[in-house]
Amino acid sequence: LGLARAGRAVVQARRQGYLGREIFGTAFDFDIEICESAGASIGGEETSLLNVLQGRRGAARPRPPFPAVSGLWGRPTLIHSLETLANIPLLVRPEEHSAGANPAGTKVVCVSGAVSIPGVAEVPLGTPLSEVINGIAGGCTDGEALAAHLGGPGGVTLARDRFHTTVDFGSLRSLGGDLGTGSLLVLGTSSCPVALARFLVDFCAEESCGTCPPCRIGTRVILDLLDRVGSGEAEAADLDRLERLCQHVRRTSLCELGRRTSSSVITGLEYLRSSYESHLSGRGCPTGSCRPSDDRRACRIESTSGMVELSR
Ligand code: SF4
Repeated sequence: LGLARAGRAVVQARRQGYLGREIFGTAFDFDIEICESAGASIGGEETSLLNVLQGRRGAARPRPPFPAVSGLWGRPTLIHSLETLANIPLLVRPEEHSAGANPAGTKVVCVSGAVSIPGVAEVPLGTPLSEVINGIAGGCTDGEALAAHLGGPGGVTLARDRFHTTVDFGSLRSLGGDLGTGSLLVLGTSSCPVALARFLVDFCAEESCGTCPPCRIGTRVILDLLDRVGSGEAEAADLDRLERLCQHVRRTSLCELGRRTSSSVITGLEYLRSSYESHLSGRGCPTGSCRPSDDRRACRIESTSGMVELSR
């Protein structure tokens, strides 16, 4: 649906003269071409995106050279997200866009999970999480919220006592995370942070392009350790091992997908360690949420092959 709408918008803009050659009688030429990828998450990583655009398998490239030096077809290339481009008018003509608003700008957040009013909201940067969860989203539907996960699969999981954290780039970076996609998942007291971390690591493992061993192999071992925790087989030493492995994968992976794969585990162990410890030594998951996946695959080749581009 998004692809169809974006395509229609480009056609309309071209018809109206906003795109093309000599725009509105000036010497300025500008155009937009939309390329459809095979749909894997790794295709959004900047160097993987370049490979996809060139009809290759969606796998990250080692850097240097950085895309600004050698990118698409070996030429200097600037890569931006849609959100960055959407913010350019605010930078070029701030007086037309920020009247009465927070001068730091806003961020679109998508609130889901155990809240009364899930949905998308644009909040001023600097808004405390507690205000987003209890105000805009109408509060937790499961008593008091246990935790919140911010920033999508590679994001951070914060306990309730961190809800004074503000929605902005610096605050989350200091906690080891990033605003990322702006997704905010609220966990009630009947949710399990270990089960959530396992779900998110499993997603990242499925999306791994398999180029570098820390991500390709490390995420599988992290999943095995999380399964041991979830089933009650793990002991306290396994949590230390899990933490060390997550940090190692974060330090040594080639691209951001691998570096962020274990963020939910690292922050979960830091801010919600008692939830992990409550599973240990035969006790298992107190909420019954932890279940090992039974459909794990070795590599999501079909999504990262770039066949959509090659078949054109
Ligand atoms: S970190 Fe993962 S996704 Fe990134 S290049 Fe390595 S294997 Fe591929």
